[in-house]
Amino acid sequence: MVMTLSHPLMVVTDLDGSLLDHHTYRWDNALSWLDRLRAREVPLVFCSSKTAAEIRPLQAEMGLEDAPFIAENGARASCLLDGERREFGQPNYGALCAFLRQLRADSGFRFTGFADATAQQVADWTGLSLANARLAMQREAAESLIWRDSEAHFAAFRQRLQQAGLQLTEGGRFWHVMPQEAGKGLALAWMLREFAMAGQTFTTLGLGDGPNDAPMLELVDYAVVIKGHSKTPVTLMRDASSRVYYATAPGPTGWSEGLSHFLL
Ligand SMILES: [Mg+2]
Repeated sequence: MVMTLSHPLMVVTDLDGSLLDHHTYRWDNALSWLDRLRAREVPLVFCSSKTAAEIRPLQAEMGLEDAPFIAENGARASCLLDGERREFGQPNYGALCAFLRQLRADSGFRFTGFADATAQQVADWTGLSLANARLAMQREAAESLIWRDSEAHFAAFRQRLQQAGLQLTEGGRFWHVMPQEAGKGLALAWMLREFAMAGQTFTTLGLGDGPNDAPMLELVDYAVVIKGHSKTPVTLMRDASSRVYYATAPGPTGWSEGLSHFLL
């Protein structure tokens, strides 16, 4: 099915496990579509659990300098409009980690966050180079963690976070803790409002592979669900209409498959 464009197209994409291969972080299999989107001047918005410090060099490598982006699962977002930088989310990482440390001390919950780890540990968990692991640790507003405790304690952990105005979302590798007023869907809604106020309205196509992508995939006009690595599959509330496509391949191959499904 080819999509109907009532406005110029904007593509919003998750990175790890979507545009980037889950294991190798390569995007070779997406190059052909990346070239086509660039030639058509389609804005490509990264919407990722990665940090701004990781996203900016990737954008530069793909020729997308100064493109808008959503970082840290929607706890941060940034776009340049009419020469002015607009930002979403508060850089409260220090306070968030202090809260988590206190909660762990009080409750005895067992979990390990990026703030508790060395760059080498983060590199081991993710397969990133040591240099890129350091960029992944330059967090501003959301903490990524590995849960090492029981499911019962996990439910209690989630409840304690909720009481503190925080939420949990599941990515391809980690759990992510961030404020309740954050998330890929809320950050994208903010960004689309900023563009609309500047007189730019888009038809949006979103691509993602994890449960953390669901709020973004609910919001876009057309959604591609890529075969993912999370334990939990992506479940969308929206109708399984002709506007949702489930790619059969993972990573950049599924990403390209999804674009080929909707675009000529
Ligand atoms: Mg992903």
